[in-house]
Amino acid sequence: MVKKLIKQIYPTIKSKQYWVTFCSTFAIGLAIILVMFNYTPVEASISPEKTIEQIKNEAIENFEEETVLSDNDTNLDAVEEAKNIQIVEIKSGDTLLKMLTGLGLDYNEANNIFLATKKVFDPRDLRVGQKFEIELSEDGKSVISMRSTLRTSEHLQLSQNEEGKYSAQIIKDELTLELQSAKGKINGTLSIAMNNNGVPKSIVADFINIYSYSIDFRRDVKKGDSYEIIYENYITPEGKIAKYGNIIYAVLNLGKSKIELYRFKDSNGNVDYYDAKGLALKKTLSRRPMQYQSGRISSYFGRRRHPIYKDIRVHWGIDYPAPKGSHIYAAGDGVIQVAQYRSGYGNYIKIRHNSEYSTAYGHMNGFAKGMKPGTRVKQGQIIGYVGSTGRSTGPHLHYEVIKNGKRVNPLTIKASASENLRGQKLAKFKKEVAKINSTYEKMLANKQKEEKIAQSPTTNPSEI
Ligand SMILES: [Zn+2]
Repeated sequence: MVKKLIKQIYPTIKSKQYWVTFCSTFAIGLAIILVMFNYTPVEASISPEKTIEQIKNEAIENFEEETVLSDNDTNLDAVEEAKNIQIVEIKSGDTLLKMLTGLGLDYNEANNIFLATKKVFDPRDLRVGQKFEIELSEDGKSVISMRSTLRTSEHLQLSQNEEGKYSAQIIKDELTLELQSAKGKINGTLSIAMNNNGVPKSIVADFINIYSYSIDFRRDVKKGDSYEIIYENYITPEGKIAKYGNIIYAVLNLGKSKIELYRFKDSNGNVDYYDAKGLALKKTLSRRPMQYQSGRISSYFGRRRHPIYKDIRVHWGIDYPAPKGSHIYAAGDGVIQVAQYRSGYGNYIKIRHNSEYSTAYGHMNGFAKGMKPGTRVKQGQIIGYVGSTGRSTGPHLHYEVIKNGKRVNPLTIKASASENLRGQKLAKFKKEVAKINSTYEKMLANKQKEEKIAQSPTTNPSEI
């Protein structure tokens, strides 16, 4: 109320004539009012020594101070501490300069800020909706500091030094690594199942990429199969996800088979995925998938004189002679597609390894137990035995590699970069596996707790 009164009479205070007539009465009256209201910020007291002029000047000073303060806030205590902070949101058509001059800064000052900012931030990257938190100086003529979030974990920070010079820098938040887990049943595609569970798209893509070496997603993944995953999130101090990290553990349960993978980075920085025993996922197909590794090749891939027909024909595989009954292995992880007698081939097995590669095995004496279409096999697993069934002149394995539907020379398959872990690497890997397993168990236990709470009748009575 006092301040309102002061404001109303303030313009008249400026008039000297008014003062000449009324100052003494007014000053005394005012002093009494101020004392009555215990107006401590304004040290208004009257001593007999003071001239009218002194009193007048003091009064003007005090009023001006009061008037400035009262523009901001009516609460004096808050006013004393408050800074002049403005939050500005960039609108369509705004530029940095326009935004700054819009705050009341003169062009030169705004331009200085613009030039300092430009050193670390491209003004063309300014986006509609971007917010700037700007602390203006008391007089509103310069900027004390300016801050704007550029990305989830990056901020632009401008400040003014004692000489009034501006400098800007990009401040990156310190991110914390957090593990996130998800698991679920696959009813449509794996991507849909994972997306429904909140797994981000980039992680889904990584997951598919990792497994594409050993499975064919279109054919091998069936309704009712399931997945599990642990991946890394990088979290900002505000608790937001700044970016996604790596998949550190993954499982695909396909029918009865479980393909489990752990990420491992060796001391040279090489990263690969291995099963719990340290066997590499990215295995190349075996060139000689059989027990007898040192035997000769009786017939190579390509054109040759046929031993039975006695004419020139293309031989679509490699013939490895071996004693009847010796073991034939799966050349790589995969799914049996064909396991039956096929005229010239005799007892024949075809394995699909991934969307690119299949392998085929002919003239077998017989199949190993359980080999039928749909059976998942591991690299090195016995699938059958050497024989001489079909058009064959003696016991041998006829082995074919099929790449994108075309038979290729098994001896020219590119060797994979991945090798199984051994020695110290294996020891280090096993420690990490144990750590991941115990972390995952804890995460699952916590998730189950959450699910129980969510399903309890007290929180969801409509579902009883
Ligand atoms: Zn052959």
